[in-house]
Amino acid sequence: LFRLDGRTALVTGAASGIGLAIARLFAGAGASLILADRDPAIEGIAADLGGRGVVADLADAGQVDALGDEAAEILVCNAGIAGPAGPMHGMDEETRAALYAINLDHPIRLTARIAPAMAARGRGSIVLLSSLAGLRGNAGLGHYGITKAALAQLARNLAVEFGPAGVRANAIAPGLIATDWASAILSDPERTERRLVATPLRRVGTPQEVAAAALFLASDAGGFVTGQTLVVDGGTLIS
Ligand code: NAD
Repeated sequence: LFRLDGRTALVTGAASGIGLAIARLFAGAGASLILADRDPAIEGIAADLGGRGVVADLADAGQVDALGDEAAEILVCNAGIAGPAGPMHGMDEETRAALYAINLDHPIRLTARIAPAMAARGRGSIVLLSSLAGLRGNAGLGHYGITKAALAQLARNLAVEFGPAGVRANAIAPGLIATDWASAILSDPERTERRLVATPLRRVGTPQEVAAAALFLASDAGGFVTGQTLVVDGGTLIS
């Protein structure tokens, strides 16, 4: 049930962190990969996994639309940025627009092309990387939280619209995961301690643990699951 043989998976933001872990796990499960990232390293990473790399800035609408012409049975919209921490309304307009472009416009534009193509072929699975920050109030990363909350709704909308054609759509909401991006928090012992005390499992998660959730949702193992947001956070949200 967890195999992906014969399926092509398009993963965005696969040059590092969670996206890279997803690419590796999906390759091991038998998927053919199309990996997109603005980091040119994506070409070598994809080649090593037997797939194809696409260097693209997914904050750019035209480059997202071009990627949308790829045929894939599985789509993982993972590329995203947190943006600078600080009061929500203190963010300047240019920074805010850039944040919304990569975190929200890219999944909207990409699914607008890929979901109908999946529906025409009668099957597909879409996984969107949301966040714990989109499931509860967050003053320091406010706009980030808004974009991530919107992705959970995008998954629900896609699930309802394309479900009758055999396409599933879900989101994953990770808590704090040990990636480059979390290193700012993890390099500050006090902030790390605060996070760990607020997390029943008393540790940060690994990119592999998020990738395992993505494999469940992308594969037939999650075949009757759609419109959901799977929280992978060591219990932070419920405590
Ligand atoms: P990361 O920074 O390690 O990886 C993000 C990848 O996206 C990078 O390879 C980067 O080059 C790529 N990317 C960023 N902007 C891009 C653009 N404009 N065009 C193309 N590629 C671009 O981050 P990560 O921690 O692996 O996070 C992956 C996803 O998971 C993000 O959407 C993030 O919001 C989400 N998330 C992460 C955490 C965490 O604690 N690490 C928690 C919750 C949610």
